[in-house]
Amino acid sequence: MSERIALTSPIADVPGVRDQTARDLATLGLRAVGQLVAYLPSRHEHEEAEAPMSELAPDHIVSARGEITSCRLSGYGKRSRFQAVLSDGTGRLDLVWFNAPYLRGKLHPGMRLRVQGKAKTYNHGLQIANPKYEVLSDEIETDSDKTEARLRPIYPASERVPSRVIEQAVVKVLPVALPMIADHLPETFRTERDLPDLSDAYRMMHAPENEEEIARGRRRLAYDELLMLQLGVAMKRYQLRDSQRAPALRASPASHDKILSMLPFTLTGAQQRVVGELSDELTRDIPSNRLIQGDVGSGKTMVALYAMLLAVESNHQAALMAPTEILAEQHFESISRTLANQDVRVELLTGSVIGGDRDAMLARLEEGKIDILIGTHALLTEHVRFNSLAVAIIDEQHRFGVEQRAVLRTKGEDEGGMTPHVVVMTATPIPRTVSLTLFGDLDVSTIDELPPGRQPIETTYSPPEDREQVYQAVRRRVESGEQAYVVAPAIDSESGVLVGARDLQRELEDGFLSGLRVALVHGRLKRNTREHIMERFRRGLIDVLVATTVIEVGVDVPNATVMVVEQADRFGLAQLHQLRGRVGRGSKASECVLISSPVTTDGVERLKIMTKTGDGFRIAERDFEIRGPGEIFGSKQSGLPPFRVADLIRDTDLLARARTDAQEWIRRSPELSFEGEILVQQRVLKTHGRWLGLGDTG
Ligand code: ADP
Ligand code: MG
Repeated sequence: MSERIALTSPIADVPGVRDQTARDLATLGLRAVGQLVAYLPSRHEHEEAEAPMSELAPDHIVSARGEITSCRLSGYGKRSRFQAVLSDGTGRLDLVWFNAPYLRGKLHPGMRLRVQGKAKTYNHGLQIANPKYEVLSDEIETDSDKTEARLRPIYPASERVPSRVIEQAVVKVLPVALPMIADHLPETFRTERDLPDLSDAYRMMHAPENEEEIARGRRRLAYDELLMLQLGVAMKRYQLRDSQRAPALRASPASHDKILSMLPFTLTGAQQRVVGELSDELTRDIPSNRLIQGDVGSGKTMVALYAMLLAVESNHQAALMAPTEILAEQHFESISRTLANQDVRVELLTGSVIGGDRDAMLARLEEGKIDILIGTHALLTEHVRFNSLAVAIIDEQHRFGVEQRAVLRTKGEDEGGMTPHVVVMTATPIPRTVSLTLFGDLDVSTIDELPPGRQPIETTYSPPEDREQVYQAVRRRVESGEQAYVVAPAIDSESGVLVGARDLQRELEDGFLSGLRVALVHGRLKRNTREHIMERFRRGLIDVLVATTVIEVGVDVPNATVMVVEQADRFGLAQLHQLRGRVGRGSKASECVLISSPVTTDGVERLKIMTKTGDGFRIAERDFEIRGPGEIFGSKQSGLPPFRVADLIRDTDLLARARTDAQEWIRRSPELSFEGEILVQQRVLKTHGRWLGLGDTG
């Protein structure tokens, strides 16, 4: 019978697995044999060899089994103790549990138990306090008649399906399933990297002989996950470059000079270098897929504008997509201002452009009467069609995933199968580990220099007791003609927990900052209202702007020189760095004050990193280490696929290795279609084909 079992067979088909167990496992999503093999323990516990009670020694972790001869509950609630006596014919063992009155309903004389814990001398005998125990039924007892010391796998369990039940099913399934597991990695490839065979790796996770085996098995499976991802990304990159064409823009020294003359500044060295990298690429018909990263204020917009103008000079269109309306509006305003005297038609498309206005705008776009279209994700909607989109810029990439990039790409495809050059910009520096995975298909340029005359932002930490002094300093700045931001973590207060922006504005206006013009801006205000307030702030008609994180990106008011962040512990580090980038944009010395109660020492230490470095990359790495990738790049938003085994923080070396290996492999075999590669191809497409949009191969 077992010959007919496959990895896709129902678990219940495996001899020795009860139907009820199979039904229970199904509640965890485990139906097929292969799924159970892939269901890995979350940890392993050392289990001592079992011994007869007469041989147990005090002051050791011991393991024994026997029958309950008596039990008794005494005391109440937290003071209660539940005692039981266990005997096995060679001796007795006293058990005691504190604060566990519910055991009275669970353990009864006559039951057989296996217990484990530290034995102590007690009344001339031995006692274990709060032992781990397991009730033995007859069936289970023969099943698990293990008395050897071992590493016992502990599985992610549910109330209905305890780890023990999963373990028993795994024990039945492994001997049947492991021989059927074919390794998708070629043997030579594996041995070169000292990786165990796939089926061995699973065995090492479920039934390890020792700690090294767990590490070895885990390493194989983690590498595997990372390799599959990197292979997918490398394939995608190959497909893009090989199968699609982008408009090759014309760039001559004359057009270069012409574009530079339209820009309001002389480019910094770093901007020039990146502009050079970009224009080399844009003049080819291979679609660019480039990430431009540069710290807050490094002047990425200028570089983007250069690329867009290069498209316009070549009689094509360009698009700039920003993550929020505020930012889109601001780009629109500053680019329109810059190009005021030029013959370049710039328009703004956001969710607020509706009805007839929208229809007319879309018609102009399709007729090629708009040169540069700036907008939010509204640019991605179905009816938006360009006449000839050559350059698509995505600002603040971390909020847009691979899928959005793909949609934007299709916007240029209508005409003659051309795809635009895609350039993404990020001011939230992306930790290297993430850029290798999430953005593994991108080339990276870095603007590592700030425009001249920038003053570093001095960042300090203050406890709430010092608020009065902090705001006195703000007042002094305002009196000397400068402006300030005050940032709160939310719009509304939560009593006792959080002071929101609304209440903060009122408090400051009537208190520490009375007599100053203190306004409020947040994301729930209507666009016009918000724009009006920002405009008044920009024109110096407002002294202090109390805001939520709506001002996180892009907002540019050089005269604002001080920022106070209230309840700073509520923000991520990368976010704080982003926020503080709102000041220090002019030539005056600027400062940022982080106010927070010292919630925990860790919390304060975390904030103090901000006071020590202005290097956004270092901060982003720390933030990533502290909060993990999930928090920062919610996997749904970012398109980052979840890993089962690999851990982007722990496994950076493996990741780098997997990336190099994958690139080399795809260079040799771009479609993974050579003999002996079919398994790996299937696996890559199955895991990553969909989100990476790997053509019709999958
Ligand atoms: P970010 O990289 O954060 O998007 P921006 O593009 O908003 O930065 O630029 C930050 C500020 O620096 C803006 O006020 C912009 O006008 C100014 N800026 C950009 N490039 C230069 C330059 N080469 N020289 C002087 N100022 C510049
Ligand atoms: Mg920017």
